[in-house]
Amino acid sequence: MKLDEGQASAIRRVCVIGAGVMGAGIAAQVANAGIPVLLLDILPKSGDDRDAIAKAAVARALKTDPAPFMSPQAAKLIETGNIEDHLARVADCDWVIEVIVERLDLKQALYHRLDAVRRPGTAISSNTSTIPLVQLVGGLPESLSRDFMITHFFNPPRYMRLLEMVTGPATDMALAARVAEFCDLSLGKTVVRANDTPGFIANRIGTYWLQHGVNAAMDQGLSVEEADAVMGRPFGIPKTGVFGLIDLVGLDLMPHINASMKASLPAGDAFLDTLREVPLLSKMIADGYTGRKGLGGFYRINREAGKIKESIGLVTGEYEPSKSTSLPAALSRSPTKLITSTDRYGQYAWSVMGATLAYAASLVPTIADDIVSVDAAMRLGFNWKQGPFELLDVLGPAVVARRLEAEGKPVPELLRTVADGTFYKVENGQTLFLGVDGRYRPVERPAGVLLLEDVKRRSEPLLRNGSAALWDVGEGVACFELTSKMNAFDEQIMKLLDKSIELVKQRYKALVIYTDATNFSAGANLGLALFACNIAAWGEIETLVSSGQRTFKALKYAPFPVVSAPGGLALGGGCEVLLHSDAIQAHAESYIGLVECGVGLVPGWGGCGEMIARWTATAGMPKGPMPAVAKVFETVSVAKVSKSAAEAKVLGFLRPADRITMNRDRLLFEARARALSLVEGYTAPTAPEFRLPGAAGRAAMNLAANSFHRQGIATDHDLVVADNLAEILSGGGADLVDVVTEKQMLALERVAFMRLLRTGATLDRIEHTLETGKPLRN
Ligand code: NAD
Repeated sequence: MKLDEGQASAIRRVCVIGAGVMGAGIAAQVANAGIPVLLLDILPKSGDDRDAIAKAAVARALKTDPAPFMSPQAAKLIETGNIEDHLARVADCDWVIEVIVERLDLKQALYHRLDAVRRPGTAISSNTSTIPLVQLVGGLPESLSRDFMITHFFNPPRYMRLLEMVTGPATDMALAARVAEFCDLSLGKTVVRANDTPGFIANRIGTYWLQHGVNAAMDQGLSVEEADAVMGRPFGIPKTGVFGLIDLVGLDLMPHINASMKASLPAGDAFLDTLREVPLLSKMIADGYTGRKGLGGFYRINREAGKIKESIGLVTGEYEPSKSTSLPAALSRSPTKLITSTDRYGQYAWSVMGATLAYAASLVPTIADDIVSVDAAMRLGFNWKQGPFELLDVLGPAVVARRLEAEGKPVPELLRTVADGTFYKVENGQTLFLGVDGRYRPVERPAGVLLLEDVKRRSEPLLRNGSAALWDVGEGVACFELTSKMNAFDEQIMKLLDKSIELVKQRYKALVIYTDATNFSAGANLGLALFACNIAAWGEIETLVSSGQRTFKALKYAPFPVVSAPGGLALGGGCEVLLHSDAIQAHAESYIGLVECGVGLVPGWGGCGEMIARWTATAGMPKGPMPAVAKVFETVSVAKVSKSAAEAKVLGFLRPADRITMNRDRLLFEARARALSLVEGYTAPTAPEFRLPGAAGRAAMNLAANSFHRQGIATDHDLVVADNLAEILSGGGADLVDVVTEKQMLALERVAFMRLLRTGATLDRIEHTLETGKPLRN
């Protein structure tokens, strides 16, 4: 994958030392950015292959799920080796990342060896989670301290957006800035500057919260399900809560982190009060119940009993079938109601969250200079929707302070500073945050970061209805935003898109289609479709299909450039809107696919024709109509979804000229720049004429589907759906020599779509998917 030119050119080659869990993941992410990596480890204890450890790490990473690599090609950018034979090659690298075991003596020994072979000015960083920088550089030559920093990645490095960076008094700040820029632009990380304190920001607060969460659940007699139901969703925290998260990271990690915290935290730190011997935890670890990577953890799947989910009794230490717990609706929606509720859930919520938020407030400016860094670290490192200070604003800082005081607990200085105010406020469309000096300052975005949430704070939409909005994002570009549930396409969106096209034509240079949401679009609104089928509103459905086709073609042939900027899921209709854009600027984590066949349908908003046109125009495609059609059939008939933007290129959803943005926060800015680059001399595309393989092609596609059916891979209804798809892709009844127009292709899509919708098996699929979120294999 090629990044945009000019991006982070200062770092052209990276060396990663230590090919364990983190080292392999970091090396993969560097390779995902298109940068060559040298991955080194120690010599293996046995065997002839001296590079075996690093080689095995890459092989393992290629099989790991979720995948560390965005494409198998990225793995080719990693060269493997060992520190005895290949350390001198560090001289070719601009940045060396040390990711070896967490031992100061081994790390320092390695730094000494590195200093002898590296070029002066080559950055050296450690991925340590617990050892302070001051100890890492203690006794090292000054020249090395100057080029040294901590770059703390989170696991898994591809998916976790946080990178904590720690510099020392001797660190060359220009060099640190170059590394930070590379991590931001090329690796897609949000770089948060942390001070050189134990556990830095996220782990300091996060492990305190976990430790407290375990202790309080045991003291207050909550089950693990109850504790996780309280600590998860109501606070905007992943539903794994406390116990589910410990299972995920590994129970065995907790004693290590705790021991290191104990050794390095100053006396009197509130973290130390949470440390206690938990016999159940020690027993679980000793018995191999270390979490998801082990035999199970606080939760486990009992396969012997027929795949039953079980949880451990915190008092009994015995596994029992897991009882799903849901809080009363009023409590689960409002953290304020939850922490003030007098029942056991409310008590647990307050004891854990009240203490955690107070702890976080007591740590600024010790662990970070400002609250913005702390909130970002918890959002991106622990996937909290809101950081501690944002949560405090929801609960009311004064309310929390008064309750702490009433309970005789210390009230952190920052909570006194904020008094009756809030940590954040908006003035003239600008968000301000409270500094430790009691003054408010603007939350600054780095150059090249443009978020719709900021645009919304300072302006009104140009157009809006219940499912979409149009915004002015500056420089003459408008941004169409989907706002419906899961950004699913419906009639309202099509209507607003039509209006937007007219408005952009009159007043703007270009249009970008983008949303800040995690997922670009989950496709068409299946719930509405099912409802319409149940009342036999066939005419209405057909109208929605044809009006969608018209709108997407109006977008394609509009007299201005259209750039779509997906991130997360872009499925079905969400994929078809991309296919009708002049260019796509995709976030690296884009999962794109025409998934209609999965629910027993076919793409109905022009996706079939657009995909054929894309493959026909692909360089190196063999001659004749069948190769391009076969490519589309292979992908669409099995509802294939790309696992990254890089893979979307391989599957033909993105064209070779489409671009990829690594940092999610930069997506809108880069899409706008791309749109502006297309403005001068822009002419709308001309309508394609398709040469399709006709009846023989349809038969060939059916033959392939039948072979899958015989092998038990395709179901009965898959064959029906595949034949309908084959009918469209082959041009219906057209002969090989016939020219099929775009209009005719749309008509073929419409007919097949409506025909399938009238089959019971398709309706069963839709119903099942709506209920379970999973496909029905009927
Ligand atoms: P790991 O045990 O999976 O891997 C460590 C690797 O380093 C092994 O492959 C080992 O052979 C190699 N190694 C040991 N000594 C070496 C040496 N002298 N030279 C070269 N290679 C050597 O460990 P990990 O979980 O990947 O952690 C590595 C570092 O990252 C640690 O500092 C850890 O604190 C930090 N970290 C870990 C996580 C996590 O979730 N695992 C998260 C953030 C940071």
